[in-house]
Amino acid sequence: MLSDIEIAQQAKLQLISEIAGKAGLSEDDLEPYGKYKAKVSLDVYNRLKDKPNGKLVYVTAVTPTPAGEGKTCTAVGTTQALGKLGKNVMLCLREPSLGPTFGVKGGAAGGGYSQVLPMEDINLHFTGDIHAVTTAHNLLAAMLENHIVKGNKLNIDPTRIIWKRVMDMNDRQLRKIVVGLGGKANGMPLESGFDITVASEIMAILCLTTGMTDLKKRLGDMLVAYTYDNKPVYARDLNAVGAMAVLLKDAIKPNLVQTLEGQPAFVHGGPFANIAHGNNSIIATRTALKLADYVVTEGGFAADLGAEKFFDIVSRVIDVHPDVVILVASIRALKSHGGVDKDKLSEENIDALARGCANLDQHIDNVHNKYGLPLVVAINRFPSDTEAEIEFLRQHCNDIGIRVALSEVVAKGGEGGIELAQQVIDALEHDENNFKPIYDLDLPLEDKIRVVAKEVYRADDVVFSNSAAKSLKTLTQLGYGKLPVCIAKTQMSFSDDPSLKGAPRGWKLNVREVKASAGAGFIVALAGDIMTMPGLPAVPAAEKVDIAEDGTITGLF
Ligand code: ADP
Ligand code: MG
Repeated sequence: MLSDIEIAQQAKLQLISEIAGKAGLSEDDLEPYGKYKAKVSLDVYNRLKDKPNGKLVYVTAVTPTPAGEGKTCTAVGTTQALGKLGKNVMLCLREPSLGPTFGVKGGAAGGGYSQVLPMEDINLHFTGDIHAVTTAHNLLAAMLENHIVKGNKLNIDPTRIIWKRVMDMNDRQLRKIVVGLGGKANGMPLESGFDITVASEIMAILCLTTGMTDLKKRLGDMLVAYTYDNKPVYARDLNAVGAMAVLLKDAIKPNLVQTLEGQPAFVHGGPFANIAHGNNSIIATRTALKLADYVVTEGGFAADLGAEKFFDIVSRVIDVHPDVVILVASIRALKSHGGVDKDKLSEENIDALARGCANLDQHIDNVHNKYGLPLVVAINRFPSDTEAEIEFLRQHCNDIGIRVALSEVVAKGGEGGIELAQQVIDALEHDENNFKPIYDLDLPLEDKIRVVAKEVYRADDVVFSNSAAKSLKTLTQLGYGKLPVCIAKTQMSFSDDPSLKGAPRGWKLNVREVKASAGAGFIVALAGDIMTMPGLPAVPAAEKVDIAEDGTITGLF
């Protein structure tokens, strides 16, 4: 089989104006960025506000393993399959960050015959949204520290600056730094550091906002420091909101691109799925729901992270919940949960697959029984899967009364997703949807964290560090008690220990720190060590990336 980038480069792209036409958009709605990408006007949603929404198909997965699961591929493939069945469909995805593109993961625009195009652009600078977030974030950092250097009227305690810097690169050297060295003319020595841009609260805000007025309110509400007398300092106190909003004026408009088979796709916004909520922008999703009868979207990591955050955070903001969920499982991933080493995943092993189904079953129980959503398990077929393994997994799902479909979208494109698309349509027509979030916003913050930990992760209890308990008290006093909670933990396990595969029992969630993302509108509880600035591996993916004289790019997978 050809590599992803070879398949992408052989595709004949349609002009973005043609793709827009399929979505019912006119030239006036578009701001083209070259021939194959365009920003879409925010007026489109306002014009179509009163139209009923299309159906929202939400793609999530079992707990990630090094074996690969394939949510993005499945989301693109399902879109292409619905297109093949003659449905009016749109796709909504997150924008890839350059850090992972040049680090371990490589590009994030799907794979094989299920990709979004132009994949090189989408994986690189795209339309500049991430740069805009970086710049807005760093403007605020510059204004905050300048304020301190130039007299500090707000009485900010320089040891309690929360707002640091960001850039869109994996660079562990920048995690903790000292700025302002070199004497009075060069500022004031202060501790600072860098997070990756997709971990910026501004990225979360970009994805949760509904328009410019709301964007400005959220930017203003960001908590950036505390004063010497313990009072919170907000971005609005530094008069930075207008300038940040100006920098984000284009970034808040969704980006229109196309799938390999020509369906319209919004690729917009890309917050982390641990310290942030891990779903593409609300502006993209709600606009797509007005334009198409079916909208396929994907959340980050497994159903205990991206999907949990969609159900408990995003759904409350847009008052929209999924109509059906696709839970992606690969046989390799389930064998990995069943204890098989990475180098043995290509050998048939039904016993390990059976053990690994514990992970699948817990996600099914959560999404289907606890959140009340119709569900289809998609078996994302890899070349090494055997017939006996596929049959076992099908039978397992049948035995527990859950819809299942084999998906071959990576090898075959939309054609390989017909069974899956038909199951999705059937579930939409016949299955009950009794969606409800897992916790009530009126519960105290501590209890909301406990509900997610016990109900979704299946922890016995939550242990709060002294500092976390103190922060919970302070944040409640500051009026944040009614916010939803965003738990940041490893994506590699239901628990806070990445080595515990499957469905761990008999453990407690350790919350070591709690902080407010007050502009984004959630409280972040950090469980375990969460990396907000990744590092590069020994051999970064960047080493393979190259460009030829004629502009052909290689090595982006
Ligand atoms: P996720 O969105 O869950 O992180 P992706 O869909 O981006 O996963 O897939 C991750 C990687 O695994 C991609 O490089 C993709 O090409 C590969 N992959 C996914 N599904 C398959 C498959 N069925 N066969 C071969 N490779 C696959
Ligand atoms: Mg993905």
